[in-house]
Amino acid sequence: MSNHGVCLAAMEGFGQVYDCGSCGNIHVRVGPVSITLEPTAYMQLVAMISTSAANFELWLQRKAGAPDRAPGESNYDESNYNGKGIL
Ligand SMILES: [Zn+2]
Repeated sequence: MSNHGVCLAAMEGFGQVYDCGSCGNIHVRVGPVSITLEPTAYMQLVAMISTSAANFELWLQRKAGAPDRAPGESNYDESNYNGKGIL
């Protein structure tokens, strides 16, 4: 019944997330890299990436809004930050 795979998402030139329809796992391909995850692990990856995206946005906003803030003012560990920013 489920011999056909299904594409869950695809971005041309970047990657794809799909179910091949035979092994029961979810395949995540980004460029030349491909990883295969059990459905539960895939959902954990989604949750982790989603959390990291939200935190990344907050981090960028903090950098843009308070570039000269004194160390120790936030919970963020800046000990490895070179002070030059990303943008
Ligand atoms: Zn598969």
